[in-house]
Order: sequence, then C-alpha cells, then structure tokens
Amino acid sequence: MAVIRPEETSLTEHYWAQARLGQVTLQRCEACACTWHPPQPACPDCQSTEWRWLPASGAGTLVANAVVRHAPHPAAAPHLPYVICMVQLAEGPLFLCNLLDHGDQAGPPGSPVRISLGPSLAGYGLPQARLEGPAAALG
Ligand SMILES: [Zn+2]
Repeated sequence: MAVIRPEETSLTEHYWAQARLGQVTLQRCEACACTWHPPQPACPDCQSTEWRWLPASGAGTLVANAVVRHAPHPAAAPHLPYVICMVQLAEGPLFLCNLLDHGDQAGPPGSPVRISLGPSLAGYGLPQARLEGPAAALG
C-alpha cells in the first residue's frame, strides 16, 4: 500500500515529534510576535531567526474548503471522497488540513473549527479539522 511520508528535517524535527503526540505546534517570532506555519527558518514578517515553538490552541475558523473526488496520490484513493480545507488558526496562521465528520459535503466558510492531529498510516500526526457550533450539525 502506498504511504505518503513528510520530509523530516532538523527544522521540522520538533514539529513532527509534537505531531506524533497529537499537538500542533507553530513558530512565534521573538522580535515581532508574528506566528507562522509551516516551519520556516526565519520570521516571514521581519526575517528574524529568533523564534520559539508555540503549542497551537486548536481553535480556528473555516476559510475555504473543497471536496476531493480524484486521488492526487495512490495513498489517498481509499479515502475518496474527502474534504480539504483552509483554516485560519486563532493564533493567526493559515492551516491546510482535512475536514472530518462532514461526509463529502463542504462546510460553510466562517464556521468555527477545532484542529487536531489524528494517526496516519506513516505514523505521523495527520492534521484534521472538525466543525464546531451550529455548522457541526449540518454534517
Ligand atoms: Zn518577526
């Protein structure tokens, strides 16, 4: 069975170690307080290399989503159809992940979501979002 594995580097090592424990982590700049994801060696706002890891709260807002009906990789084929979504995390960064518990229906943009990391075949934490509030009942 085909398995998708992320590239783990010295920069992303901490992110993936925390992901395997179920925690989403972000980076926060010590100079300007910008918070970002995915991992980068310097702040995208001020280019400072002084930053620290920050556990994400998991809270966010659904910005956009789409139903995937054609597998972009053989490993994704057994999961069709599924919904991918862009979430604005409460800490600021945009986060791309799956939208769960909503069948093959897209969710209403602007809905509150909760991000978590579920298990994947490769043993890495797979980012997942679930709708919260009134929109959750639409699934
Ligand atoms: Zn900065």
